[in-house]
Amino acid sequence: MTVNVTETYSPEETYELGVKIGQTCKPGQVFTLIGDLGVGKTVFTQGVAKGLEIDEPVNSPTFTILQEYTRGRLPFYHFDVYRIGDVEEMDEIGYEDCFYGQGICLVEWANLIEEILPEHYYKIVIEKDLEKGFDYRKITIEEIGGPL
Ligand code: ADP
Ligand code: MG
Repeated sequence: MTVNVTETYSPEETYELGVKIGQTCKPGQVFTLIGDLGVGKTVFTQGVAKGLEIDEPVNSPTFTILQEYTRGRLPFYHFDVYRIGDVEEMDEIGYEDCFYGQGICLVEWANLIEEILPEHYYKIVIEKDLEKGFDYRKITIEEIGGPL
C-alpha cells in the first residue's frame, strides 16, 4: 500500500499539488476527497482540472452531485455527494459509466458512498492543524486496493 503525505502552507500550494495529479493521472483513475468544509477540497479539485487542461470554471457541484468536463486532456467527472440522500441516487446519475470508464473521477465526501466505491482508488484526505498555522494543510494520498 502506497501512502504519500504533502504539507501545504497556502491555497496555491494545494492547487499546485492538484495540478501535478491532473497532469499525471491516467484514464480510469478514481480519486476520493475527504475533509471538513473549507479545508480546500475545491481548491485541490480546481488544480486537478487545470492539470487536465480544462479551461472552464470548476466549483463545488453541491446541488447537482455530478459535474462533467469533457474538453480537457481526459473526461473529468467531479462528484460532490455531500447532499446525497441514498446511494441509489448515484445509480440514477449513471455513476458506473464514470467510475469504470476512461475518464478521471474525483468524488468529494466519498465516505458517504463507501459501499459503491471501486476496488481500486486513491483516497485523498485533507486536514488542518491550527497549531501549524491557519493556512497549513496536511494532504495524505493513499492507494486503496492497489497497485493495479
Ligand atoms: P472545501 O471545498 O473543502 O469546502 P474550499 O476549497 O472551497 O474548501 O475552500 C478552502 C479555503 O481555505 C479557501 O478559502 C482557501 O483560500 C483557504 N486555504 C487556506 N490555506 C489553504 C491551503 N493550504 N490549502 C487549501 N486551501 C487553503
Ligand atoms: Mg468544496
